Amino acid sequence: MVNIVVDHDKCDGCGECISVCPAEVYELNDEGKSVPVRADDCEQCCSCVESCPNGAITVEGCE
Ligand code: SF4
Ligand code: SF4
Repeated sequence: MVNIVVDHDKCDGCGECISVCPAEVYELNDEGKSVPVRADDCEQCCSCVESCPNGAITVEGCE
């Protein structure tokens, strides 16, 4: 399990992380915030961390 944290105070639901993730880790919840529902599938490519315009995502190994 890769440790992934999305800061919902920063996430505005733009969907960039969903678009760039090759492993379909993220989904938007009912409040329009990104949630790493399939963190087990994360390949630690760091694309989501680099693409989030609000710096809301932290992924283990992508610091
Ligand atoms: S890229 Fe960042 S701001 Fe956009 S939905 Fe994902 S976590 Fe939220
Ligand atoms: S690091 Fe890569 S594989 Fe993991 S959640 Fe982010 S975009 Fe998806």
